[in-house]
Amino acid sequence: MSSTPEITFPRHVVIIGAGAVGLMSAIHALDQGLQVTLLDFNEPGSEEASSYGNAGWLSSHSVIPPVEPGMWKKVPGYLMDPIGPLSIRWRYLPRLAPWLLRNLASARRERIRSTARALRTLVVDARTLHHEIASRAGVGHLIDTSGVLHVYRSRQQFEGDAFGWGVRRELGIQWTELEGEALRQREPDLDPAFGFAVQVDEAGHCKNPGAYMQALQVYALARGAHCIKGAATGFRVEQGRLKAVVTAQGEIACDAAVISAGARSKVLAAQAGDHVQLESERGYHAVISGHAQEARARTPMMVSEFKVIATQMETGLRIAGQVEFASFEAAPDWRRGEIMRDIALKLFPGLPRELPSSDVRFWLGRRPSTPDGMPCIGAATASSDIIHAYGHGHIGLGCSARTGRIVGQLLAGQAPEIDLAPFSPQRF
Ligand SMILES: Cc1cc2nc3c(=O)[nH]c(=O)nc-3n(C[C@H](O)[C@H](O)[C@H](O)COP(=O)(O)OP(=O)(O)OC[C@H]3O[C@@H](n4cnc5c(N)ncnc54)[C@H](O)[C@@H]3O)c2cc1C
Repeated sequence: MSSTPEITFPRHVVIIGAGAVGLMSAIHALDQGLQVTLLDFNEPGSEEASSYGNAGWLSSHSVIPPVEPGMWKKVPGYLMDPIGPLSIRWRYLPRLAPWLLRNLASARRERIRSTARALRTLVVDARTLHHEIASRAGVGHLIDTSGVLHVYRSRQQFEGDAFGWGVRRELGIQWTELEGEALRQREPDLDPAFGFAVQVDEAGHCKNPGAYMQALQVYALARGAHCIKGAATGFRVEQGRLKAVVTAQGEIACDAAVISAGARSKVLAAQAGDHVQLESERGYHAVISGHAQEARARTPMMVSEFKVIATQMETGLRIAGQVEFASFEAAPDWRRGEIMRDIALKLFPGLPRELPSSDVRFWLGRRPSTPDGMPCIGAATASSDIIHAYGHGHIGLGCSARTGRIVGQLLAGQAPEIDLAPFSPQRF
């Protein structure tokens, strides 16, 4: 009598959420020979996903978590400043408090060093990995590999960020300084009041994240993935083995699942037995189209003073930034988009002072953020058939390529290519 062979790795995986992390996971699951279903209640590349409207940075040096030593002293000032980089809807504060306390507690120098070491393993070759996958999907041209800039008014202002740059140096990250005329030549449209910059050559950027996501989806479908529109609400697990992903419309039978629902992953993580601390850290962008003759960011640039990134996208000049804590359902505060537009006017004096509203588009996105600045990647407590893959905060586009590859390895029962201990979903 022939016995049924034991399943040594899952054959059908449902990937919940088709943002950058879900799409990369789908492609790597297909590479491992698995049957893949992508489940999302939005279209891939949809404006609802954080992966649509980010600043496009694929920055292997973005390893310093957003909190910095002594940050708590600056928070009241940021909150009092109506055009400052941080805002909290006060009614949301009681729910946010545990996350915020842990966030501020992780701002110690040694913690930041160890976080940076861990994040570096995820992003170290982000630009190359993205270029490979984008090329396979026929959109290699969307990945630019010519570095990024961090712009300051002066060397003195740059030295105010010495701790972060020192940690980067310890990790072997290199940069070139550009001062005065050298910066003018590189960025002739930038306000000359910004007289100092560092150029990080190992980084890259995506010129159209929304189009990139759509192309990844088309590629995954062409290779046999299925796409279902719907919202996952939980899992059916029997004796530790996953039997189905539960949706409002019914169950999808499967042997494995990936939680890659971005900022909405917390509820699903709890259904999988893990109580993670995850917040939707809202950010905004303004895209100014039709003025590339007057003002161009030739290199994507992070302007430390305003905590924004200016990236020349295929669709126009995108200024992205802001941190706003509010409930998921809270209406966007479009004044925050206007702040982005006004910063663009400060950075690029060549832009017309009265920009027609038809030339400016605003967007709100939700970064999936943990308090310690590190994602959750690994098997769930309820069943090792469920994999967590979310929480990449400010660097989720960059991290998505390696995260997807690691998810593929976990699904296939292989040892992950990097140490996942720092990213344990059970660490909270
Ligand atoms: C202003 C701003 C600028 C940024 N700039 C950069 C940058 O320059 N570089 C960088 O690397 N990162 C950047 N980021 C961060 C980056 O965009 C995110 O970390 C990343 O996009 C997260 O990807 P994700 O796949 O985890 O989530 P998302 O892209 O949000 O995708 C999650 C998907 O899950 C779906 N979903 C949610 N719940 C369910 C459910 N229950 N069932 C089914 N589907 C569900 C959603 O519809 C969505 O499509 C920025 C973010 C913002 C807001």
